[in-house]
Amino acid sequence: MTASQETLARDIAAPALDYDAIIIGAGMSGLYQLYRLRELGMRVRIFEAGTGVGGTWYWNRYPGARFDSESYSYGYSFSKELLEEWDWSEHFAGQPETLRYLNHVADKFDLRRDIQFGSRVAAATYDENSRSWSVALQDGSRFRARFLITAIGPLSTPTLPRIEGRDSFAGQSFHTARWPREPVDFKGKRVAVIGTGATGVQTIQTIAREVGHLTVFQRTPNWCAPLHNGKIDAETQKTIKAGYPEMFKRCQETFACFLHTPDPRGAFEVSDQEREAFYEKLYAARGFGIWQGNFRDILIDRKANATISDFVARKIRQRVKDPEVAEKLIPRNHGFGTRRLPLETFYYEVYNQDNVELVDIAETPIERITPDGIKTSAAEYQFDIIIYATGFDAITGSFDKIDFRGTGDVRLKDKWKSGPQTYLGMMVDGFPSMMMLMGPHTALGNIPRSIEYSVDWITGLLRFARESNLTRLEATPAGVASWTDHVKALGVGLLSNEVNSWMTGINSNVEGKQTRIVARYSGSAPAYREKCDEVAAKRYQELALA
Ligand code: NAP
Repeated sequence: MTASQETLARDIAAPALDYDAIIIGAGMSGLYQLYRLRELGMRVRIFEAGTGVGGTWYWNRYPGARFDSESYSYGYSFSKELLEEWDWSEHFAGQPETLRYLNHVADKFDLRRDIQFGSRVAAATYDENSRSWSVALQDGSRFRARFLITAIGPLSTPTLPRIEGRDSFAGQSFHTARWPREPVDFKGKRVAVIGTGATGVQTIQTIAREVGHLTVFQRTPNWCAPLHNGKIDAETQKTIKAGYPEMFKRCQETFACFLHTPDPRGAFEVSDQEREAFYEKLYAARGFGIWQGNFRDILIDRKANATISDFVARKIRQRVKDPEVAEKLIPRNHGFGTRRLPLETFYYEVYNQDNVELVDIAETPIERITPDGIKTSAAEYQFDIIIYATGFDAITGSFDKIDFRGTGDVRLKDKWKSGPQTYLGMMVDGFPSMMMLMGPHTALGNIPRSIEYSVDWITGLLRFARESNLTRLEATPAGVASWTDHVKALGVGLLSNEVNSWMTGINSNVEGKQTRIVARYSGSAPAYREKCDEVAAKRYQELALA
C-alpha cells in the first residue's frame, strides 16, 4: 500500500470528526469566525502558524507599521462592550497597539482555548465518503472536520526578490512581514530598503531618523498622500464612542466601507479653481479621503485622473528640494490612486536629509547582492542591514501554499491556474463545505468591515445547514461561472486593472504571476452585500445542498 492509500484506508475506517469546523488562521477573520461559531454551539479549532493571534498585525512588526484607515473605523463592531472599553490612542494606530487590541479581544472572549498555535496547515483534502475535510499540519498531524473555513488573509505570503547572491549577504536582512520581535538597532548603521509600496514608505519614513545612512532602492515610484495622524484627546474619545452607531452605519453605506466615499461630482463638472481648492482640502485632510472620497471619475477617466496626478506631482516637487530626486519620485506609468495609495508622514521630506539616497533601479538595476551589500549596474553599495519591503504573493498566494484538494482530488491551485473562480468570493465548486474569508473576488476595502459581513454570512449558512440537517454545501459550476464573469465585468474600465500591482495579481518574484488577473471584487460593498443577502434570503437555493 502506498502512503496515500494507507491514509485513505485509515480515513475511511475512522471517519469520526474531530471538530465541526476547522478555521485556518487566527487573524481578524479567524478570531471573529471562531466567536460566531461558538455561539452556534459548534466544536471549532483554529490552526495558526504564528505563536500568537493577530495575523497581519502579528507578522508585520516592521518599524512604523500602522493603520491607513481610521482606528475607530477599523476595530470590530460586533460587541458594544468592546467598543466602550477600548480607547484608540491615535487616529491611525500603530502596529503594537493593534496587536494589543487583538490580544485583548482574544482574552476577553476566551478565544485562545480553541486555537492551536505554531501549527501551519500544509494540506486539506475533501473526503466524499465521510463528507468531511482532513486537514494536515506541517508536523504530520491530521484533524477532520465537517466544514473548513480559510481565514488566511489576502496579504500574508511575503515574497523576496529573486536576486542572485541574496543569501550571501553577511549583514542582517529582514523581510518587513517577518520582522523580529527583538528591537533592531539602526543607530549609525548603513541600511538599504528595497521596495516603496505602503510598507516601504512607512519603514523608510520611520527609520530615516535613526540610521547612519539610508539607501532606498526604488523600482517604481508610488503616488503617496499625507496621513495626518494625531493623538485622540479625551474629548474626541467621548465623541467617537458616542458616534459609533452612526459611524458604522456610514461604513455600511460607503463604496468600500471606509469613512470616505466618492464625491458625486465629476472632475470637470467644477471650475479649475474649485477643483484645485477641493484637491487642496483633500490633501490637508486625514486618511484616505483623497483616494476614496475624490471625484467619482478619477479612477475611471484618464483625463480626470490626470488632474489629480498633476496636483500630487506638484506637491512632490514642492516638498522635495532636489528637482532630480523629485522627478524620480513621481510615477510615470500609472495614475494617482490606480494602485493602493500609501499614506505617509513626511515621507517626501526624508529625501531632503543628507543621510538618505534614492537609487532608481529602473535606471540602474540591481545585479546582485554581495556579502557586503548591493551591486547595481552603476555602483556597489555597502550595508549593515538590508530590508526587503518587497510585498506579498497576494490574494491567491496563501491558497497556493496549502495543498487544497477537492472532489476527484482536484487541486485548487490547478483550478485557479488562469485566475481564481469563486462563488461570491466565498466558495468554489468542487470544494464542498469549504468557505473562504477575504479570499479572491470578495469586497476587501476597509477589511474588518468586510470580515464582519463575510463571517456573519458564513455563520448564517452554517446555522441553516444545521437546522436543515445538511452536511454538504457546495457552489455550483454555473454559480461560480456567473459570479466570476460578474467580477470580471465589474473590473472593465477601471484604470487600476490596467496597472501592474498586487491588486492585479502581479508579483515579479513569483513564477507564473506575471499576467494580470481579476482577483478582486471591484463593485461597491453595498452591492456585494445585497447579492449575498439575496442568496441567504432565498435559503441558499443557488448552492448544491445535501
Ligand atoms: P507592495 O505594495 O507590493 O510593494 C512592494 C514594493 O517592492 C514595490 O515597490 C515593488 O516594486 C518592490 N519590489 C518587489 N519586488 C522587487 C524586486 N525584485 N526588486 C525591486 N523591487 C521590488 O507591497 P507592500 O508595500 O508590502 O504593500 C502591500 C499592501 O499591504 C498594501 O498595498 C496595503 O494594501 C497593505 N499594507 C497596508 C498598510 C496599512 O494599512 N497601513 C501598510 C502596509 C501595507 P514594483 O512596484 O516595481 O513592483
